Amino acid sequence: MSMQKIQQKLLHWFEKHKRDLPWRHTKNPYHIWISEVMLQQTTTTAVIPYYLQFLKKFPNIQKLSQAQTKEVFSLWAGLGYYKRAENLIQAAKQIHKLKKFPKSYKELIHLPGFGPYTSRSVSSLAFNKPVGVLDGNVIRVLSRFYGTAFKWWMTSDKTKLQTLADQWVQKTNSSLMNQALMELGSLVCLSKKPICLICPLEKNCKAFQQNTQHLLPLKKPKKAKEFWHWKVKVSSKNSKFAFIKNHKLPFLKNKIIFPGTIKHIRYKPKTYDFSHSIMHYQIFINIQCTNKINSKASLQWFTKTQAQALNPSSLILKVLNRYVQKSHFL
Ligand code: SF4
Repeated sequence: MSMQKIQQKLLHWFEKHKRDLPWRHTKNPYHIWISEVMLQQTTTTAVIPYYLQFLKKFPNIQKLSQAQTKEVFSLWAGLGYYKRAENLIQAAKQIHKLKKFPKSYKELIHLPGFGPYTSRSVSSLAFNKPVGVLDGNVIRVLSRFYGTAFKWWMTSDKTKLQTLADQWVQKTNSSLMNQALMELGSLVCLSKKPICLICPLEKNCKAFQQNTQHLLPLKKPKKAKEFWHWKVKVSSKNSKFAFIKNHKLPFLKNKIIFPGTIKHIRYKPKTYDFSHSIMHYQIFINIQCTNKINSKASLQWFTKTQAQALNPSSLILKVLNRYVQKSHFL
């Protein structure tokens, strides 16, 4: 079967089976951009209420460009990866200044937070520019369709995959084709149990023919876990808590954190109040309630609500909840 016919089959399948998602009812690049940023690292179902709330509060670029970080953070709480929310405001400011939303991948990639994925997806989905979009779903579909063990996390193999993804889209169907590939990965070409019997690509899929679906795509080698031991000092006065700005730790960078001592350790400590994971960092926390803090960094005092707006990580909330329990028994 020719590639053209295979692609037609996929588009036909998409037309029939696509999910009804709010961002599929618009070509507004701002709306598509917000949805694409939220969809990174978060499931579609979880994103829908966030997306609707966000657009209610910030319905256009101008409103977002004037937003306070804490306002955006409060709508972002629960989505994680707060750097994305900060980048949204910075990019909105630049786009607002330009007075028009850039259309091409090459223009978009210079904006804060617009990596190759976001630049390509906005350019394709909003403006139908013929660029392939490579997300986890598309990597899985293409690796299996071509039956190739791409090391997709390595630049050279990622470039090969990108070239293949670009070949699937044309000027006339870029937006639909990219969405169809992503949707096929989400609904049919599932990572654990692909449902090949209902897949429109089944007859031409190398992995299906060779029964290698379970071997593809290759798994990215995991980053080794890093252990950190943080002896947190929590001090409060007049319903406010002492914080410092984090310039040193590899996680929660440039955010406010509690003062105390922290070190990189090789083994799990024997005693700790609780542990918390951020990416590949596992942090073991001991809480000390004290009013004597000798901190080299200057202290800043915030209420619980203010602190959460400035650093919405659930770690801050966990520490404060534990502090309340501990101080109750002191
Ligand atoms: S036939 Fe199976 S493995 Fe191949 S693309 Fe379809 S669902 Fe994925």
